[in-house]
Amino acid sequence: MFGKLTSYLRSRSRARKLEHYAIPDDLWTHTVAALPYVQRYGAEDQAALRELATLFIAGKEYSTAHDLPLTDEMVVSVAVQACVPILKLGIEWYRGWHGIVLYPGEFLIRRTVEDEIGLVHGVEEEASGEAWERGPVILSWQDVSTPGAGLDSDHALPADTYNVVIHEFAHKLDMLDGEPDGVPPFSRVLHPGVDAEQWAEGFLSQYDVFADACEAVPDSAWDHPERLPPRLRVIDPYGCEAPSEFFAVASEAFFVEPEGLRRHWSTLYKALATFYRQDPAEK
Ligand SMILES: [Zn+2]
Repeated sequence: MFGKLTSYLRSRSRARKLEHYAIPDDLWTHTVAALPYVQRYGAEDQAALRELATLFIAGKEYSTAHDLPLTDEMVVSVAVQACVPILKLGIEWYRGWHGIVLYPGEFLIRRTVEDEIGLVHGVEEEASGEAWERGPVILSWQDVSTPGAGLDSDHALPADTYNVVIHEFAHKLDMLDGEPDGVPPFSRVLHPGVDAEQWAEGFLSQYDVFADACEAVPDSAWDHPERLPPRLRVIDPYGCEAPSEFFAVASEAFFVEPEGLRRHWSTLYKALATFYRQDPAEK
């Protein structure tokens, strides 16, 4: 009885949110027109994406820093892109946190690093995005609106693979089961028959292959990305920092440049297709 009442109330609340936060047609069209990797989805998927983005907007709180005026375009662009990874998972995969903070451009983050002799130092560095465990996602609007703006010589990649929104929200999915480790949680219902341990093993061995391949590249070669082997041009080399970063940058490639990722990293592509329950290279 209560089960029925709860699901009735939940569907009422969902319908109310979809109505109250509905994204106007012209804003939707305009937003999708600026996102080629979203356009590859068919009409049915785009309709589902629009619903998810609406629920996302209803459930999250946006704010800005440094007096950046918050516009509907910003709200919708972040929502649509954030919802691409959860298109076949569902809005509840972003549960447990609320804030989206937009900075006009790159911002400083503080983190601690340990040096060779074990001393811990506080360092400040510029970032285009940051995701806090059970906390907000922070994004540089400049990087969201003009992918490629954050690229420098450390990111020797074709500009169209870079996507800070996918990157940070992939971290959010990874963090659903605690500290980011590159291995997101799996659902018995949505991922039937998937052995999470086996998945982790396969993914981490891909990380090792990638880190070794990056390591083998002489430092000077990063200044000439066109001379890098093609398989190192699909995934941001930042991925060799840690398995969690590898999951985030591989997710960027999976959604933004799926054909390239499938061609050069087919095992990794399949692992991500299993988790995200999508096959974007087939669209
Ligand atoms: Zn990251």
